[in-house]
Amino acid sequence: MSEPEGFPETHVIDVFVMSVKCGNCDTYQTIVGFKKMAEHNVYTYECENDLCDPNVTRTILEVPKHLDNSVKRAEELPYYSKDASAEPDET
Ligand SMILES: [Zn+2]
Repeated sequence: MSEPEGFPETHVIDVFVMSVKCGNCDTYQTIVGFKKMAEHNVYTYECENDLCDPNVTRTILEVPKHLDNSVKRAEELPYYSKDASAEPDET
């Protein structure tokens, strides 16, 4: 009776409100990649400076699909391609 139904406690993760900081150069990393996997979505972060080699400091963030609240926005980002073969860019 006292349970507030219709207000389920949904815990979601919005990667766009999160800050990813590099432990090496101490600056914030930016999202450079987004990929959908079977169980989770993968966000790739890199340092945007000349201090770090992205191959060394790159961050791979995995978010469980059912908790990921950022998919819509991530899909709008230019680096996201649903299907590489669907690119009408070729000549
Ligand atoms: Zn760095």
